[in-house]
Amino acid sequence: MSVFSHSEFDEHQQVAFFNHRASGLKAIIAVHNTNLGPALGGCRMWPYASDDEALTDVLRLSRGMTYKSALANLQLGGGKAVIIGDPVRDKTDALLHAMGDFIQGLGGRYITAEDSGTSVADMLKIGEKTHFVSGVDKVSAHGGDPSPSTAHGVFVSLREAVYHKLGRTDLKGVKVAIQGLGNVGYRLAEQLRDAGAELFVTDIIQANVDRAVRELNATAVKGDNIFSLDVDVFAPCALGAAINDQTIAQLKASIVAGAANNQLATVEHGYQLHQRGILYAPDYVVNAGGIVDVYCQRKMLQKNYDVENYAADLDAKVEGIGATLREIFVRSDSENIPTFVIADQVAEERFTSAKSIYQPESVLA
Ligand code: NAD
Repeated sequence: MSVFSHSEFDEHQQVAFFNHRASGLKAIIAVHNTNLGPALGGCRMWPYASDDEALTDVLRLSRGMTYKSALANLQLGGGKAVIIGDPVRDKTDALLHAMGDFIQGLGGRYITAEDSGTSVADMLKIGEKTHFVSGVDKVSAHGGDPSPSTAHGVFVSLREAVYHKLGRTDLKGVKVAIQGLGNVGYRLAEQLRDAGAELFVTDIIQANVDRAVRELNATAVKGDNIFSLDVDVFAPCALGAAINDQTIAQLKASIVAGAANNQLATVEHGYQLHQRGILYAPDYVVNAGGIVDVYCQRKMLQKNYDVENYAADLDAKVEGIGATLREIFVRSDSENIPTFVIADQVAEERFTSAKSIYQPESVLA
């Protein structure tokens, strides 16, 4: 297993390995870039088949966090943690405490949050050993759950994309197909309904669909039929790789904007959307409301920042996702380069122009 020459290494500033025999903890923390601030990113627990697989995952995910936070205009860098183990079988208080000690030892360069295989309860347990944990603030608007802010960010993005592509200043009568009515998708559907959009929805959980039909006057769609609907917007809010070889040819929507991570199965699919004139709002720009919320929760814990400041700051920052998308859309048009490529460029301009490596001492005070 190589680190500095790993294909995903990409100039990571720090990669730390931790072994704690008594609890069985084996973990890796990757800090990609701290030019804009401390590296914030989730802590994933997964039974990786090999150390190399865990390293690949943590490097890829931490890099993504640098880009996401830079595009959301947050004073945060990108990092991620992985615990190698089965979250059902191997998770113990001792293991989580050892993880807290590990994070504390990095002195604030990395701040953790929940992710796949970890929960808010786990973060509270980790937080018994370190200050550097986020997304657990019970006094925030939603008790620490970032999904409502993620949904708001998707709504803002969708409105921006509709304005750019269709020249429409409101969403009245705009047809939106939503795949996945979970924490984010359902809340997005509510906001779209309130704005007058016409909804078409699918979910593998029938109760979610029934509720949207009943409460939001949505039209239920069976399974993969969601891709070929004659709608204005396709909003993937379920799993990754919704845009793939099978689905891309079916799309009739002129906009793709949704919450799901990694919507493009490969970058080639991003180029194909561009060639077909389908406006793709890059997923990691669109779904940044959650990290914005976590950031604002953290700021609230600092002095001179109360609940009203939190709500106003959160709202302004989530609305700001629209301005970033506008910049990306305009540049994509004028340079004839796909939006997801432009988004990476904008992020790099932001975090590479920041002056110096973040000094963790400043958060210890
Ligand atoms: P969730 O698990 O609450 O909801 C996902 C929904 O999609 C579920 O209702 C599920 O039944 C449905 N689903 C799964 N496979 C499907 C399929 N093939 N067809 C139709 N429906 C299907 O998850 P969530 O928190 O709403 O997140 C949705 C997406 O947004 C995920 O990709 C997640 O990674 C991403 N995301 C979420 C947040 C957040 O704050 N929750 C932040 C950033 C990104």
